[in-house]
Amino acid sequence: MDRQIALQETYGHFIGGQWVEPANHQYFEGVDPSTGNKIASFARGNKEDIERAVRSSEEGFQAWYALKPSARGQILNRVAQLLRKYKQDFAYMETIDTGRPLVFSASLVETSARYFEYLGGAADKIFGEVIPASNEHLTYTYREPYGITGHITPWNVPITQAARGAASALAAGNSVVMKPAEQACLSTLELAKLCVEAGMPPGTFNVVTGYGEEAGAPLINHPAVRKIAFTGSVETGQIVMRAAADRIVPVSLELGGKSPNIVFDDADLHPAAAGSLRAFTFNTGQVCSAGTRLIVQRSILPAFVEQLIEEAQQIKIGYGIDNPTIGPLVCEEQLHRVLRYVEIGKQEGARLVYGGSRMQEEKLKDGYFMQPTIFTDVTNTMTIAREEIFGPVVVVIPFDTEEEAIRLANDTEFGLAAAVWTENIHRGHRVAKQLQAGQVYINDYSPIDVEAPFGGYKKSGIGREKGLESLHTYTQVKAVSVKL
Ligand code: ADP
Repeated sequence: MDRQIALQETYGHFIGGQWVEPANHQYFEGVDPSTGNKIASFARGNKEDIERAVRSSEEGFQAWYALKPSARGQILNRVAQLLRKYKQDFAYMETIDTGRPLVFSASLVETSARYFEYLGGAADKIFGEVIPASNEHLTYTYREPYGITGHITPWNVPITQAARGAASALAAGNSVVMKPAEQACLSTLELAKLCVEAGMPPGTFNVVTGYGEEAGAPLINHPAVRKIAFTGSVETGQIVMRAAADRIVPVSLELGGKSPNIVFDDADLHPAAAGSLRAFTFNTGQVCSAGTRLIVQRSILPAFVEQLIEEAQQIKIGYGIDNPTIGPLVCEEQLHRVLRYVEIGKQEGARLVYGGSRMQEEKLKDGYFMQPTIFTDVTNTMTIAREEIFGPVVVVIPFDTEEEAIRLANDTEFGLAAAVWTENIHRGHRVAKQLQAGQVYINDYSPIDVEAPFGGYKKSGIGREKGLESLHTYTQVKAVSVKL
């Protein structure tokens, strides 16, 4: 493999365009979930490190916002070019950090490049408006950045999470302090470094690594951070929102999901089964928008489940670097959490028809591998149908009528994504309109696109990332009135 970025044994924070030792000189280990082996040591950040990063970001903001919007856009485009130049490096980093198959990591690096390209192109198209308020005044608006935006990201898809938030915030003229998840922070650090190589003023994009309570908490509570973007669990999202409430700063949250995936009896069975399998196994099911409640019309239930199991048997499980279909779960704790849910499902009376265990194969036994897992005879009230599992586990729930399918789909506290499989165009749109979710797919599941807005209804979150909509997330509006 043609790699150009040498990995380090020890990583500091990336602040002000350089590697910075943690204030307390403490580090923690990053582990390859395929093997359990250490990949590097990372700085264990604390309040002092956040203070340093925020001070640097104040300077970064001055320099960044002083540039012409088109100049900012050109730099963001250059980041996209560099991500493509170093695609193999970033794919490798993601794969050793998360266990994801290399080919998928490479596609996520391309998606990350697209974020910078798309939003870089938008940087000089963030318009205000002229408002027809009165004949005696000229009234117009600016869309202005907040200043410093604080981002807390999760471990499931670190590179796209970092690129998505940073590209939008930076395109809007903000500077960024990011705290990636402690389980997988390598690519976020290298992305910030790449931004400097692309010509971004030092301090515009700073990264502090470490644990949530030690490094995340001081970031969301820092008085100079004027906007918070968080992706992660509902519980931590609530902590973040409370901190934002204390300081009255806007917060965007992308939280969990328990997304319904409805298959009608008029669906094209093969693509529906293959797509439904991908929906809960992609990234080993560690995706907020995974389709984990498979709501299937009773008349096709046996045939569909048989097809789903046949598809599941084709899945190859292995080290990310060997390009299997799926890799391991991100860490031991996550594996045990998912296996606990499997036990709960059995105890509650669901029928385990496929998978359900940790991989025992000699080569895989030190990693955090588990089989794709399918439960049938599930009711929507069972724990495994209500709580987010964040592993390759699907529950199959039968329905008889369209009305019942919609009711079951919406009977959840979440609302991130939903899908409908049908060959009936009227039904597809009719059902999509009634589903309470931020994104709905018809005859596909979760196509990766950077252009469409993404975010949750209900407990799945507040605000939107992706697309031009994300620029509203990272700007505030000023209205100016001039007496004529
Ligand atoms: P998970 O349970 O899947 O690890 P979390 O919501 O705990 O999800 O983690 C998502 C991100 O939130 C991570 O970067 C983590 O370090 C951070 N985090 C966790 N707890 C806190 C906290 N109290 N304050 C700020 N950030 C936190």
